[in-house]
Amino acid sequence: MSDIEIPEDHPRRVSLEIRHKIIRGHGLNIVATAGLLAHGRGEAFDYLLGERTTEIARRAAEVAVATILLAEHPVISVNGNVCALVPEEMVELSRLTGAPLEINLFYYRPERERAIREALLRAGASEILGTSDRPSTTIPELSSNRRKVDPEGIGSADVVLVPLEDGDRTEALRRIGKQVITIDLNPMSRTARYANISIVDNIVRALPLMVELARDMRSLSRQELESIVAGFDNGRNLQTAVRTILQHLKEQAEAVRSPLELEVLEEVVD
Ligand code: ATP
Ligand code: MG
Repeated sequence: MSDIEIPEDHPRRVSLEIRHKIIRGHGLNIVATAGLLAHGRGEAFDYLLGERTTEIARRAAEVAVATILLAEHPVISVNGNVCALVPEEMVELSRLTGAPLEINLFYYRPERERAIREALLRAGASEILGTSDRPSTTIPELSSNRRKVDPEGIGSADVVLVPLEDGDRTEALRRIGKQVITIDLNPMSRTARYANISIVDNIVRALPLMVELARDMRSLSRQELESIVAGFDNGRNLQTAVRTILQHLKEQAEAVRSPLELEVLEEVVD
């Protein structure tokens, strides 16, 4: 359905390929319809950031991986978009850090849970928490169906990685004492602001980076990991992310005026 050919030299090729992964995931029941819209919001922020991993995103990713490695009981939460975009990397990060994967869906449907579970198993996962055949407990602060968590997963976790998360749930996780790490392209979202560590980057770039970092950092001592985490301030991290967007926009404002761009535009008009 969504396997269209994108020319090699298409300027928006990477973005279109990511989009088609999401569309394919939607066709397979993995991505909720609202997930398509959430992806569009992410795409817009990625455009504003320049579609690259910034210095501060890399620093936040290092702090995140060190925090997961230092945790007693870290857990990685997976939703439909995450599963459609980076299933193998999620499984690999889980394996390298010992943090189990837990499925958590805003728009729960049994067939969605099944599709995500199957995709994660195909990607090499051995254990998946949060499924309906497992015991569940609730986050008292939340009223939606996302209250449900696995008692052996998020229920007893000290550190939770919740990429592409909703603000209400992030806030609720903080209120019950979890240390929250997120990946979110919007540095102004409530999730980015509530989290302890926000990696402002596209998950398709952040996850491979985190896997690479986990591979390198696994052998570090606790003391070395603690020194990586020390001094990280998420408020400043988010301020820098917003400033990076502003800087990129300034550069774009100059680029739009360049004669080369104008020539191209004239050709199109002709
Ligand atoms: P919040 O509830 O935190 O205020 P929101 O309501 O604006 O955020 P949601 O739909 O709840 O947005 O969450 C989706 C978030 O995921 C958005 O902030 C969006 O920018 C982000 N997002 C979407 N796709 C990606 C992606 N591929 N990588 C990183 N972030 C993404
Ligand atoms: Mg939201």
